[in-house]
Amino acid sequence: MRAVKILALTVACSVMAIGVSLFRASDASLVRLNSISPALAEPGHSDGEADIPSSPDPARPESAKSTPLPDFVPQPHALTRSDASGAAGEDPEGPPPTDSSSGPTDTAPADTTTGSVPPDDTASTPAADATTTGSVRTGIDISSKTRKVSITVEPIPGLTSPKTPVWPTFIGAKNLFGQAKKPAPMEARAIGSYSRGCLAGAVPLPIDGPAWQEMRLSRNRNWGHPQLIALVEKFAKDAQKLDGWPGLLVGDIAQPRGGPMITGHASHQIGLDADIWLTPMPNYRLSAKQRETKEATSMLDDTSLAVNTKVFTSKQVALIKRAASYPEVERIFVHPAIKKALCQAAGTDRTWLGKVRPWYGHYYHFHMRIKCPEGMTVCTPQPPPTGDDGCGKEVDQWLAKVIPAKGPPAPKPPGPPRAPRPPLMLAELPKECQAVLAAGPDAVKIPREALLTTAQVKKALAKAAAVNTALAKASTVAGSKASASDLAKSPALRPHLHKSATADPK
Ligand SMILES: [Zn+2]
Repeated sequence: MRAVKILALTVACSVMAIGVSLFRASDASLVRLNSISPALAEPGHSDGEADIPSSPDPARPESAKSTPLPDFVPQPHALTRSDASGAAGEDPEGPPPTDSSSGPTDTAPADTTTGSVPPDDTASTPAADATTTGSVRTGIDISSKTRKVSITVEPIPGLTSPKTPVWPTFIGAKNLFGQAKKPAPMEARAIGSYSRGCLAGAVPLPIDGPAWQEMRLSRNRNWGHPQLIALVEKFAKDAQKLDGWPGLLVGDIAQPRGGPMITGHASHQIGLDADIWLTPMPNYRLSAKQRETKEATSMLDDTSLAVNTKVFTSKQVALIKRAASYPEVERIFVHPAIKKALCQAAGTDRTWLGKVRPWYGHYYHFHMRIKCPEGMTVCTPQPPPTGDDGCGKEVDQWLAKVIPAKGPPAPKPPGPPRAPRPPLMLAELPKECQAVLAAGPDAVKIPREALLTTAQVKKALAKAAAVNTALAKASTVAGSKASASDLAKSPALRPHLHKSATADPK
């Protein structure tokens, strides 16, 4: 066994080189992401709505096609790095958040740094260079079936572990649909499922009506399928006339072309979902500024496990019951404490309660979802409610799930850097959604890199994870032995390790 010297530079270069290959797809993405309006790129909003369940979509084979990653060549000598956009809570099929406060968060690309790198991994330093390019050496353990080579790790000046791992970023479907300012001038269609789809031929809910006012106008999310918009208007008038409700404050419906959003909401993608505040409309017209800043009132008491009866009254009960009374309304989502209160207030007429489902969040607004429009085959329906009122075990189990955590959150266990959840990619939505983006004079351009499949994105993230792990070890474990198997797993380092071992056989 004999020490084999590999120059730190070689390691650094190879790590950076794989960085370049990983970032090929993402450099262009960064440019695109930066071009998105800052308002859209801003992280979360105050009313963080947790994922809404929807029927499982038909199995989508995770793209068995092995299309290679597009070859977006980066600037020859500059590597742009960016933190990935986390997109927690955005995956409609992922596990639900663990508590009501864990609203969706988005991290805008940030912390870009530039460094000098070799143009490509293929330009890896030949072994002979090792003797001429520097004085700092990195040792690495290599194990193989035929021989063992032991190398000691030494600190590498100038190569420190980044405080946060560096991840490639991608153009998710939300980045495209978030750019749409106007609807697709097409026949009205709700395409796909509530949490994976888009909307053609959307119409806006007028920001003011006889019995409603639209809130948060800057988000431009007052668009919906014509059937939903008509129903919201009817509901507003009915509630005012029949239930004495002063009028609706309407929250998010959908974007002009539907689709996933930069902030909040896993669903609301096909123009069939609308959020209605549980705070009554004031008896004056709110200014644009007030519509942005007016705070919604939580219906919960201090325990967060029951409603505050000072604000949640028979008026709110009647409002939700009215919404559930329409045959086209299939589901209504409310906080479990509100569901419990409705169960207690319902009396003998309980048929409507089955439509009202407990879910995270939803303590200042409720979410009204209508069925797929009759005969619309491009719309993926959900299974209808079972008819059970959900007031038994179910609501209590939900309440147990949303008990607020005591004390600060537990620190993250140490371990290798975990890759962020990949964004929902355009390829995961129905094909027609590309036509929806591309329609009309206000079309949204679809760059090539936005067409990556989720499988390709996951592959790139897995590579980045390997590099981040290798980088963290190589740069911080000064004087100790690096784990050969871990380093050898890094595609960036493998060729160099192999070369070294071959050059210096035992
Ligand atoms: Zn909603």
